[in-house]
Amino acid sequence: MSVSTRNIAILGSTGSIGQNSLEVIKNFPDHFSATYLTTNTNIELLRKQIAEVKPKGVVVLDKRAASALKETVGVNVEVLSGEEGLEQIVAREDVDVVISALVGFAGLKPTVAAIKHRKTIALANKETLVVAGELMTSLVREYGVQLIPVDSEHSAILQCLLGEDQSKIAKLILTASGGPFLNTPKESFSSITVEEALNHPNWKMGNKITVDSATLMNKGLEVIEAHWLFGLPGERIEVVIHPQSIIHSMVEFVDGSVKAQLGLPDMKLPIQFALTYPERSPMNGARVDFPGLQSMTFFEPDREKFRCLQLAFDALSLGGTAPAVLNAANEVAVSAFLNRRISFEKIPLMIERALSKHSVRPSPELHDIVEVDQQTRNFVGTLF
Ligand code: MG
Repeated sequence: MSVSTRNIAILGSTGSIGQNSLEVIKNFPDHFSATYLTTNTNIELLRKQIAEVKPKGVVVLDKRAASALKETVGVNVEVLSGEEGLEQIVAREDVDVVISALVGFAGLKPTVAAIKHRKTIALANKETLVVAGELMTSLVREYGVQLIPVDSEHSAILQCLLGEDQSKIAKLILTASGGPFLNTPKESFSSITVEEALNHPNWKMGNKITVDSATLMNKGLEVIEAHWLFGLPGERIEVVIHPQSIIHSMVEFVDGSVKAQLGLPDMKLPIQFALTYPERSPMNGARVDFPGLQSMTFFEPDREKFRCLQLAFDALSLGGTAPAVLNAANEVAVSAFLNRRISFEKIPLMIERALSKHSVRPSPELHDIVEVDQQTRNFVGTLF
């Protein structure tokens, strides 16, 4: 290994972002090494990843699955378990970069721990910034770490801002594919099935984020994420529907000039950029074919039909613990929809009820956020 090898821990290596991250790392054997991998319960895939990547250690969230794995892997791989396991590995000397790719609120504590151990963070877990943006940004400053977004929209904005003065930004323009129900009439929302919601037109992703893309909550969460990453208020963050998903996002500057970042919808690009930032490195694969593309179209999102987007803007302007309520209510509602316990149209209704019942705490600490998250989960759980 060369001296410049950066050791990487992938939190959530068996998920969609995790698997793509391993693909990226594989292309740079002299620069990157995946030293730790983690999974919730998918030990079958983790076993394959261990054989291929040969990490120093792994964490399995589920303790029973961890013991099952321990019996079958050799002594060369350390097997840890539980949340404690995650917090242990992000503290290790042989970790320089943590790719935070857990799903939902579960990503918060290990990401905070990684910041406190001064690791570079490649952040794919947007919920972390949604629920604890103020706390996270102040920790990032306090510990002097780099937090680089992996989300394609925020990676696009970061790329547009290279060489620019941040104070010259007029607004951020986040693009959204519009998801599978862009042209579905609102009256048909009650009969949307799980299979239809999981059939995203452009991106192949995990189940939770795919449903979030179908409700446009994903874009709402990204607006909050952009607010914390780039320091602009919600009024200067615009969402535009762009069904081809070729422009990944844009920045409008004070002189009216607009910069956009384009590419095919493939998460390997923003993952690689996060790992090589601020440099670029070669990547093989298909390229944008402009004549073949023929047209790119743009629409204003329908915030009546996609109520989740409006709720996210509302939570951002309420501030404090409101985005944590938005996120927790959304996680419970989406999981209930995936388990076929509520209909698709009920998702925003539950979030709205949780938000209207909540009294916002300003500048929350970690314990406030954990408490509000739990209270909201309990409350939404009583709604179905
Ligand atoms: Mg995104």
